[in-house]
Amino acid sequence: MATKRDYYEVLGVAKTASGDEIKKAYRKVAIKFHPDKNPDDPTAEEKFKEAAEAYEVLSDNDKRARYDRFGHQGVGGASGGGPNMEDIFSQFGDIFGGGGFEGFFGGQGRSAGGRRVKKGSNLRIKLKLDLEEIANGVEKKIKVKRYVACNTCSGTGAKNGTEVKECGTCHGQGQVKRVVNTMLGQMVSSSTCPTCNGEGKIVSQKCDVCHGEGRQLQEEIIPINIPAGVVDEMTLSMGGKGNYPERGGVPGDLLIQIEEEPHEFLKRDGNNIMFDQYISFVDAALGASVEVPTIEGKVKIKVEPGTQPGKILRLRGKGIKDINGYGRGDQLIHINVWTPKNVSGEERELLEKLRNAQNFTPNPGKNEKGFFEKVKEYFQ
Ligand SMILES: [Zn+2]
Ligand SMILES: [Zn+2]
Repeated sequence: MATKRDYYEVLGVAKTASGDEIKKAYRKVAIKFHPDKNPDDPTAEEKFKEAAEAYEVLSDNDKRARYDRFGHQGVGGASGGGPNMEDIFSQFGDIFGGGGFEGFFGGQGRSAGGRRVKKGSNLRIKLKLDLEEIANGVEKKIKVKRYVACNTCSGTGAKNGTEVKECGTCHGQGQVKRVVNTMLGQMVSSSTCPTCNGEGKIVSQKCDVCHGEGRQLQEEIIPINIPAGVVDEMTLSMGGKGNYPERGGVPGDLLIQIEEEPHEFLKRDGNNIMFDQYISFVDAALGASVEVPTIEGKVKIKVEPGTQPGKILRLRGKGIKDINGYGRGDQLIHINVWTPKNVSGEERELLEKLRNAQNFTPNPGKNEKGFFEKVKEYFQ
């Protein structure tokens, strides 16, 4: 763990600051770095915790005095974990008043008791894609059945115009607190309110359409942009396209699991496409032009005279686009030379004439690369 910063510096107050000034300063820092307010900033939570730790020490006269004399050593060592998030949120009752954080973030974020915004369940679907779609990316329109907020009651679950009351048991907190005695003194423990199931509110008259659930099933066509280069079993996530929760909150996510359909002729190897091409030994000896399939249709390639089996030809840029934008793979064509399995009488005569012909006797030179060299050359 890195060296700890000075607690006064963390809160931005002078060493002579009063208790009130420290409280105010902490409030400011805590609001600024609240993790729910900074979802894209991974350092926010650290700063938030750092501030909570500083406040924990400086707000306590004893600890503050020890800190002033001995530094971090005086209050539990120079390193080690600070308070955990639960502890931090449970302090907020004192600092922010009964409403906790809800007052500051319009009901978003966690309340003093640690209640989070309710999130609906995720929806999972499987999506089959062929190699052509994967190679270039594709937009798919997908039909899903998902829970959306009820139109009639706007997701509240309450009958048109009727009241949604604050739960009397937990006073809207969704949590009930209990004081327990521990070795360290009295501590407050909280649990989900049994009356409202943690929702903090009670619907007195239920909406006729959704029967108080606040949501309804709906079939929807959702366009999904699949980036190029996805791989089998990869899961893409679309935020907010899952199910809406009962009686308010934010929808879950739509999780799309990719299923790659095997291609009839082409094989995928990372971002490269592999293809096996058979040619006759006549074509191998005399050279030829052959047509090969690619993900963009057929392409003619030239086989040089004297091509040996096992040669690998490369079609640059005919592979799959990299998912992170690092260019595009190639298509590699593995040349196989076809040996006839059956020969007719006339064919046999021709071949017998060639059997001892000078140029038909194997004579590999130094330029003839073996299988292992080829593999090394192409895959290193
Ligand atoms: Zn409704
Ligand atoms: Zn309640």
